[in-house]
Amino acid sequence: MILTDLTLAQAREGLRAKKFSARALTEAHLAAIEKLNPRLHAFITVTPELALAQADAADRAYAEGEAGSLTGLPLAIKDLFCTEGVRTTAASHILGNFIPPYESTVTAKLKDAGAVFLGKTNLDEFAMGSSNMTSAFGAVENPWKRRGDDTPLVPGGSSGGSAAAVAARLALGATGTDTGGSIRQPASFCGITGIKPTYGRCSRYGIIAFASSLDQAGPMARTVEDCAILLGAMAGFDPKDSTSAERAVPDFAAACRRDIKGLRIGVPKEYAVPGMPDEIAALWQRGRDWLRAAGAELVEISLPHTRYALATYYIVAPAECSSNLARYDGVRFGRREDGADLIEMYERTRAAGFGDEVKRRIMIGTYVLSAGYYDAYYLRAQKVRSLILGDFTNAFAGCDAILTPTAPSAAFAQGEKMDDPVTMYLNDVFTVPASLAGLPAISLPAGCDRAGLPLGLQVIGKPFDEETVFAVAAKIEAMAGFSASPTLHAGSSA
Ligand code: GLN
Repeated sequence: MILTDLTLAQAREGLRAKKFSARALTEAHLAAIEKLNPRLHAFITVTPELALAQADAADRAYAEGEAGSLTGLPLAIKDLFCTEGVRTTAASHILGNFIPPYESTVTAKLKDAGAVFLGKTNLDEFAMGSSNMTSAFGAVENPWKRRGDDTPLVPGGSSGGSAAAVAARLALGATGTDTGGSIRQPASFCGITGIKPTYGRCSRYGIIAFASSLDQAGPMARTVEDCAILLGAMAGFDPKDSTSAERAVPDFAAACRRDIKGLRIGVPKEYAVPGMPDEIAALWQRGRDWLRAAGAELVEISLPHTRYALATYYIVAPAECSSNLARYDGVRFGRREDGADLIEMYERTRAAGFGDEVKRRIMIGTYVLSAGYYDAYYLRAQKVRSLILGDFTNAFAGCDAILTPTAPSAAFAQGEKMDDPVTMYLNDVFTVPASLAGLPAISLPAGCDRAGLPLGLQVIGKPFDEETVFAVAAKIEAMAGFSASPTLHAGSSA
């Protein structure tokens, strides 16, 4: 048995049945990381001592019959979650070697459930990007390759390190964060599953902020059920986050087994964007056919403001980023450059500490919030955001969930789309609307393109109805029977 090939649910079964120890499971993943991380750069920091100590504690818990829902299961944590005593970088030089004195709520919940933390995964700097090319710690490589072609591809972003780690079997699951698609798009590019829950479902406390009204944590794993198990442990009300929702956490894993007969699945006509590659259009059609065969009713819906979503997002997100990132001034923590006076110290610190994409967004955000432009850009974007939410509210009067492609392309090559930021932003065309509306949305692998690269489908749900999202996604997963695995993974000789 190759331990790194197990799903999270299978690994849990194996631990409960004492077929192998948590230590053996953790060691197998650490060995896989040692072998493949030098190539993939999926992890910025690996924490073997911590992981083995947690694994030993897990073995004791199993021996004493005190195991929790995730006891002994090795996970990777996006390096945007503050982890007490473990360096947290946001993939930026400005944080230097910041070691948080506290734990984020989501990672604290995972620890309480017994999870083993293998290390911190790479991302686009401050989670701004769709390719992982903007990390100050070097780009992540996608473990998938085009057939017969060795060109390094991007894993997507910003949770690209988490996606690559899970796809390459370096971890059973991972945390991600999604502001405009950062869980779903890398999941699609790496052939794994990832869900952005409803805004407010998971606490943002201790997650380094990018755009606070959009940021949400969520799980990434190799199956829908594994995501459901992880989300069950991550979610829940937190008094430390004022936007956290006071809602009970349902049994998401049970929802994966729900019947979808009679459910109404909306297909938004505006998502059939001009220039959509025929393979993606065909995958979307197959998704509809599978759901119809499973007894769902397919209905055409209209989300008329979809075409304004990207423009709206790229005003709201930079505006909030410019405000959130003002705290990196070299005074309280992180990197500091010397200057003749305070202002020069600020300027030098921020000039040296931030990368180009982050600077671009701070400048755009500062501009759209400035006196004279606030009404024309920021306020207007907020109004359009309400219209986009209104579109979904209207659509959900006539359907239970919405089916779309996750991304307009398969993984692209490293270095591609880097010359023009707008080309990069177009990646988010299908993921950003659900973010602006705060809705739960999952991406799961449903097929491959002609070059053998994975393609994802997205299921969007009503607010706090992750259960229907999981039910529909599990049905697509069963019907798609996606079984391809990446070129580089822990079991291969590469
Ligand atoms: N790609 C989007 C961006 O660059 C989304 C990032 C995210 O969700 N964190 O902003």
